[in-house]
Amino acid sequence: MNNDIPNCPKCECEYTYHDGTSFVCPECAYEWTGAEEAIKAENTIKVIDANGNQLSDGDNVVVIKDLKVKGSSGAVKQGTMVKNISLTDEAGHNIACKIAGFGAINLKSEFVKKV
Ligand SMILES: [Zn+2]
Repeated sequence: MNNDIPNCPKCECEYTYHDGTSFVCPECAYEWTGAEEAIKAENTIKVIDANGNQLSDGDNVVVIKDLKVKGSSGAVKQGTMVKNISLTDEAGHNIACKIAGFGAINLKSEFVKKV
């Protein structure tokens, strides 16, 4: 089975195929372009960690270098485990999280890796 081709949205048939311009269902003859799903995918926030892995809400990550925290004299130490992150679409600091001793802060995804 080819995972690139979605099941028919009308009858859930999995024997759908792409005829070059749109997806076609052999069961119910429904045709669709998949454009809606493409738009949805573009609007999804993409956050990539230091290793190029895509992160998701609720992931646990580890900080890979000491990070100075704005408004604090301390730094988040390399190796700090950050649990249950939330992705944001803020440029740069695209991970919202809570770290013990610092409270709610935002991190840059390039300075973390998924665990
Ligand atoms: Zn169908």
